[in-house]
This record gives sequence, C-alpha cells and structure tokens, in this order.
Amino acid sequence: MSESFDVAVIGGGPGGYSAAIRCAQKGVSVALIEKAQMGGTCLNRGCIPSKALLASAHFLTLAKHAHLMGLEVSDVKPNWPKMQERKNAIVTAFRKGVTALVQANKIKLFEDKGIVTAPGKVKVQSDSSAEEIAAKNIILATGSEPIEIPDFPFDGKTIISSNEALNLTEIPKSMVIIGGGVIGCELACVYAAVGCKVTIVEALWQLLVSEDKWIGQLIARELKKQKIESLVGEKVIAINVSNSGAQVTLQSGNKIEAERVLVAVGRKAVCDKETVDNLSLEINDRSAIAVNEKMQTNVKGLYAIGDAVGTTYLAHGAFAEAEVAAANVCGSDEKIKDYSLIPRAVYTFPEVASVGKNENKCAEMGIETVVGKATFKSNGRSVTHNEGIGQVRVIRNKADDTIMGVTMVGATVTEMISTARALIGTKEKITDICFAHPTVSEVLKEAWEDSYGLSLHMPPGK
Ligand code: NAD
Repeated sequence: MSESFDVAVIGGGPGGYSAAIRCAQKGVSVALIEKAQMGGTCLNRGCIPSKALLASAHFLTLAKHAHLMGLEVSDVKPNWPKMQERKNAIVTAFRKGVTALVQANKIKLFEDKGIVTAPGKVKVQSDSSAEEIAAKNIILATGSEPIEIPDFPFDGKTIISSNEALNLTEIPKSMVIIGGGVIGCELACVYAAVGCKVTIVEALWQLLVSEDKWIGQLIARELKKQKIESLVGEKVIAINVSNSGAQVTLQSGNKIEAERVLVAVGRKAVCDKETVDNLSLEINDRSAIAVNEKMQTNVKGLYAIGDAVGTTYLAHGAFAEAEVAAANVCGSDEKIKDYSLIPRAVYTFPEVASVGKNENKCAEMGIETVVGKATFKSNGRSVTHNEGIGQVRVIRNKADDTIMGVTMVGATVTEMISTARALIGTKEKITDICFAHPTVSEVLKEAWEDSYGLSLHMPPGK
C-alpha cells in the first residue's frame, strides 16, 4: 500500500522547504520531494552563492580603498579559486543545514522527482524505480530557470546563464552581460571588482527598470566608477562565438569582443509538463501556474507557490506564499496580501532597496505624492564608514499622509528596507520614534521628516 501524508510538497527551495516546515509545525504529516539539491535556486544557484561572491568582491574593494581610511594595505588582489571555494563551502553548509532542519521537523524527504498523477497522488520517480504516495493536499514549489534568448542559446561555455556565471573557474578578461536587471547588475559588480572588463547591454531605458528613474541613473553612474559600461536602450543582434570568446554585435552597429556573454534577461517558471497534462493544470499568460490569493490552483487540494507561480521571482516572495499555502492546507483561511509590500533588494555597490509603491507607480495610479529625501552624505555614521553615496526617499500620499513607498540607494539599504516596510500604510509620526545616533538608519527618519519639510540635518528648501 502506498504511503499516505496530509501534505506533499514538491520542490525543496525556499518556497517548498518553508511550506513543508510550517505544515509540520502545525502538526500534520508532510512529505517533501526534491529531485536535485535541497535549497533550490536561492541556495545553490542564486541568492546565497551570489552574495558570497559579492561579499568577497566588496571586501576587496574596501581593502583597495584602505588608504581613504588612514590605513596602509599593499598588494591586495583576488584569489578567485579561493573565492569560489569559500562560496561553495557556505552553500554546502547551508544545504546540509536545510536538510537537517527538514529532518528535525520529521518531514519525510524523498530525493527524487515528484510528478502529480491525479489529485492527491504523487509519483516519486528515481532513475530506476517509481513509487506512488498519497497526499490530501499537494503544494507545487518547482521553481524557475533562466530565460534563454532563442537566437543565442546557452552553450554553457561562452554564452552562459547565471548558473555558470556563479561557477566560472577563472576570471574572464571581458564579459558582455545582456540584461541590466538584478542579476546583470549584481554579477557586473562581482566581475568588475576582480578585474574583468564588463559591459551591460540593456534593451530598455535604464538599469533596474522596475525602479524609479533616479535609481537607474544613480546606479549607472556608480557602476561606471567601477569601470562597468552600461549601454541602455541597446540590443544585441548577433553573437559570433569563436575559440577565444565571442564577438557581440549591437543594434547600433557597434561590436564588442568578450570572452564570455552572460544572458540575464529574466527567469521563467518551471511547471512539470506531465503534472500539467495529468491535471489539466491552468497556466497563466506569464507561462506560470495560475493561482488565486490563497495560492490554490484550479485543481482541488493542489497549491502552487514561489517562482513556479511567477509572481515575484524572489525567495522571500516564496516564503510569503509558503506561509499562505501552509495556513490554508492546515485549515486557516489566509490570503496573500499586497505584493508591493514584499521588499525588493539588490546587492549592487551601492545597494538598492525599495518597498511599497514607488514614485512611478504612484504617478501611474494618479496618486499625488510628496517625496521626502535625505542623503547618506549628511549622515554621520555613513561618512565615518566612507559610504556617503546614495539617498533615501519616503513617498507620502499628499491627500491623507499615508506612506506609500520607500526607495533607497546606499551601502546597507538592504538591511534597512524591512524597517521601512513597517512605515508603509501608516501615518504614524516618525518624529515620535527615537532612532539611535549615530546610525545609518537615521537617514530614513530624515527622509520622512523631509516629506513634511522638517528635516533636521538638511538645509531648508534644498
Ligand atoms: P530582470 O527581470 O531583473 O532583468 C532582466 C533585464 O533584461 C530587464 O531589464 C530587461 O529589460 C532586459 N532584457 C530582456 N531582454 C533583453 C535583450 N534581448 N537585450 C537586452 N536586455 C534585455 O531579470 P534577471 O536580472 O535575469 O533576474 C531574474 C529574476 O531573479 C528577477 O525576477 C530577479 O528579481 C530575481 N533575482 C533577484 C535578486 C535579488 O532580489 N537580489 C537577485 C538575482 C535575481
């Protein structure tokens, strides 16, 4: 007889493992089925390895600028194999940690492929055998993969995706990055810091196109200081691969020689075809699994979360959706809230972070706003760190004072954005809240104050 569970979760990335753990914490029996590595894209091919490389690159840059801090440091250079080794060790340790967490929560882990054959039935398939398990509810958390440009398919060597870009054995002399989005900009910072000549080719009007214009401009300027060239409003029309690399031809007629071409033009949801066919699973117009606010698909007892539903393509978006699916599976009635409240964090040098509705979005919605601004160069702590680049903007609804959004560029803004999230939707007087001094986060308070013309450390009318 087949094994039976209250819940079967397919996919062991941030969405899948967190849904499985939450369900187990609520006292139901859980199976987790993962065909590759526990931790999914985030841990193995995304957030964590990229942040490990970014951290080494950042440290290298700080060391090179040590003289600005009154220090003498000589002969600082990257040791790429060691950077890779460190990154791999971090990933391996966390992978073991996640697996141990799953087991500690008494979740039965199947390290094989899961295919839903019918409502409540999952075939767990290895290379040599298959078994069927039964589950009252099933959560699909099957993730996403890099989008390929059909004219320039990945060859894994010269034309690569972020999967390979995180694992190169040597630093290329030059790299063209197609796509000036999150992955393009973050990996540009890594490779430029270790001495690779990086050119970003972005088809739209600015880098980080979903952010406000000032952010795109400021990031392009800061990347330029790192010798990263950003060609916006430009397209790649041909790539000729040779033994030594590639010649990239742009729409403008310009040609660039590069050892590697990284294609970073977005990710697409992965929905197992057999599962889709077996269940007549509804797929939405973004080629992702269609779900309602409770993360339910069109099939009773079948939920989907994370990149597979194509909403945020963010690990923390998947965490949020996992909470909702787990709650509903376990008998609560929960819905996903406003997606704009899920913070966006980009780990470039300097970092970018935003939450709520930005200036573009408010304008698009016809919401009249007042925007308070404060800069890091006016913040004592930031200047002592030699990190005076960037600013924070607080976007307030002019009609009723509600905070609509917060946008930030600066050294540690990804750490401040969750605090900023607490402001969204409130009218609370931030002047009533005492911020420790000197802290970088005081810039957030200053920006809020500035939206009322009350900033202490900015001259009036600046
Ligand atoms: P993205 O959507 O952030 O950016 C892709 C960019 O490529 C866009 O600006 C788009 O205009 C451009 N583009 C598309 N086709 C092009 C073409 N033919 N030529 C030139 N430019 C082209 O996608 P991404 O950077 O690949 O990241 C994928 C997903 O992973 C994103 O949803 C992102 O949020 C997520 N991610 C998040 C983080 C983070 O939160 N820090 C880090 C990495 C990835």
